[in-house]
Amino acid sequence: MSKIYYLPQTNEVELFKAAASMNLPVLIKGPTGCGKTRFIEAMGEELKRDVYTVVCHDDLSAADLIGRHLIDENGTYWQDGPLTKAVRNGGICYLDEIIEARKDTTVVLHSLADYRRSLSIDRTGETIEAHPDFMLVVSYNPGYQNILKGMKPSTKQRFISLSFSYPDQKVEQEIIIKESGISEQLAQKLVMIAGEIRQLDDSDIQEVVSTRLLVYAAKLITGGFTPYQACIHCLVESLSDDHDLLAVLEKVISLHF
Ligand code: ADP
Repeated sequence: MSKIYYLPQTNEVELFKAAASMNLPVLIKGPTGCGKTRFIEAMGEELKRDVYTVVCHDDLSAADLIGRHLIDENGTYWQDGPLTKAVRNGGICYLDEIIEARKDTTVVLHSLADYRRSLSIDRTGETIEAHPDFMLVVSYNPGYQNILKGMKPSTKQRFISLSFSYPDQKVEQEIIIKESGISEQLAQKLVMIAGEIRQLDDSDIQEVVSTRLLVYAAKLITGGFTPYQACIHCLVESLSDDHDLLAVLEKVISLHF
C-alpha cells in the first residue's frame, strides 16, 4: 500500500508528533480544503495509529460518540462508538468541525482532554482509562464560526492549537502536481488564479478557493477537459450563486486561459 501523501506547510508534523508522545490533545483551526484531514490521516499512518473520524453536526449526540445499546435476537448488547473505540483500543479520534456539535455533546471530551484521560460511560456505569495510544484531535473552520456557536473556552483551553491556512505558492503547486499529474506550468497558473480570487474581498463568495478545488481542477485538466472548463466547474461555479460575481470570476479565468 502506498504511503499517504502529505506535504508539510511548516512545523505541524513535529508539533503533532510531540503532542502524541506527550499525550496532549490537538486542535486544528483552518479553512475548508486546506489539508487538515489529509494531515491527520498521514499522521495516523506514520504513528501507526488507527484514525476514527467523526464529522460533527448539530444533531450529533454524545451516544454517537460514546456508543449505545442495540438489540438483536439474543437481546441487548452494548456497541462502542468511535470515541470509545479509540479510547479503549488506542487510536486517533478526529472530530472534524467540532464547532457544529452541541456543547452538551462536547462536554464528554473534557475528562479525556486533560490529565485524567478517562471516559465515563453513564449508560454502562463504566469508566475507561484511555489506552496509551489514544489521542484526541478536533478541528474547526474559524470562518464558519458564529457568536452562538464559538467553542467553549473551557474546552478550547485543553488543547494544543495548530493553525492551518492555504499553503504558500510553491507548496500548493507541488501538491497539485503530485495529486493530479498536471504540468508544472499549468499548476503554476492555477495557483496564480487562486491567489487572485482569494484576494477578491466579496461577501458573496461563500467559500474561498481551497487547495481541494485546485486539485479537482487539475484532475479535470489531466482528464482531458480544457483548463478554462475545468476552472469554470471547480473555481467559479463552486464559489458562488451570484450572477454578477460569477461574471467577475469568469473574467479572472478568461484572462489566463
Ligand atoms: P480539510 O480537511 O482541511 O477540509 P483535506 O485534508 O480534505 O482538507 O484536503 C483537501 C485535499 O487537498 C486533499 O485531498 C489533498 O488532495 C489536498 N491537500 C491539501 N493540503 C495538502 C498537503 N499539505 N499535502 C497533500 N495534499 C494536500
